[in-house]
Amino acid sequence: MQYPDWRPVAPLQPVHLSWLDRAGIELALLRLDQVDALICGNKWFKLAPYLKQAADLGLQGVMSLGGAHSNHLHALAAAGARFGFRTVGLLRGEEQGNPTVADLRRLGMQLHWLGYGGYRQRHEPGFWTPWRERHPDLLPVGEGGGGLPGVQGCVPMVAMIREQLAGIGWSDYQQLWVACGTGTTLAGLVLGEEGAHPVVGALAVPPGHGVEVQVPALLEEAGVEISGYRLIDVSRGGFGRIDPELARFILDAEAECGVPLEPLYTGKLLLALRDEVVAGRIERGSRIVAVHTGGLQGRRAMQERLQALAIQRE
Ligand SMILES: *Cc1c(COP(=O)(O)O)cnc(C)c1O
Repeated sequence: MQYPDWRPVAPLQPVHLSWLDRAGIELALLRLDQVDALICGNKWFKLAPYLKQAADLGLQGVMSLGGAHSNHLHALAAAGARFGFRTVGLLRGEEQGNPTVADLRRLGMQLHWLGYGGYRQRHEPGFWTPWRERHPDLLPVGEGGGGLPGVQGCVPMVAMIREQLAGIGWSDYQQLWVACGTGTTLAGLVLGEEGAHPVVGALAVPPGHGVEVQVPALLEEAGVEISGYRLIDVSRGGFGRIDPELARFILDAEAECGVPLEPLYTGKLLLALRDEVVAGRIERGSRIVAVHTGGLQGRRAMQERLQALAIQRE
């Protein structure tokens, strides 16, 4: 395969929401969801260095793994279709149909369903051996495109923000927010910032699931100081857990500012930001950049549930 040297630039967009305006705080979103109709969100940036590796090794494509709604597999399949390389997806659970899986198939990704037990073994040392034998021409990439190459792929996001500040009339910002699943994107932002701005990692996965150890390990591997960020728990009791307050918040925020959100990462991030703002923990006059990490393809299967929850009384 050829390395698709595609370097999309995500727009930096000022966003108005009543709770921000009342507190005198400005927010701009780095719209990674807008870089492409299909290959969007943070996943392209995490994948790009792996595609370079695969091309340098003379391989024909990439195999990776994820759940049946995986944004990572979706971006990988879309990139394979766009740039002409082979993709294989190893999926959690039993074979099922949903809009994401239909897209993966349509985009030409070859799917293998691992069951739940099989998927749980993904961190075992011998996990990839049979898959390498089966697909010797593909590069295996861990869940979500993590690891140091994934981190490096996210570093340019900081320059992307910096280069667009003047265009929105900002000279600077005080905090950079991003939602965390594995913390790979967060580590990339911390690397890119080099201490210039504190980065807030909003944990979409509850504490104790690895981000607290993963991020320092990645920064250490990158050879930089383990500082410049803090983690807050925005998971609301579990990854993927959606409650009526979150559902209402998302639908209201979307109606007010016109930016589509999804409930697993970006919705929870903005709700946590609102709580900090309302609690007075962010100084009046502050300017905040938050990364919109995409994930909207996964929302399709959740739209009805969001609407049903939003009208539910607590
Ligand atoms: C994968 C994903 C994240 C988490 O990224 P990490 O690098 O694993 O922390 C955040 N937001 C969205 C929409 C994602 O798909």
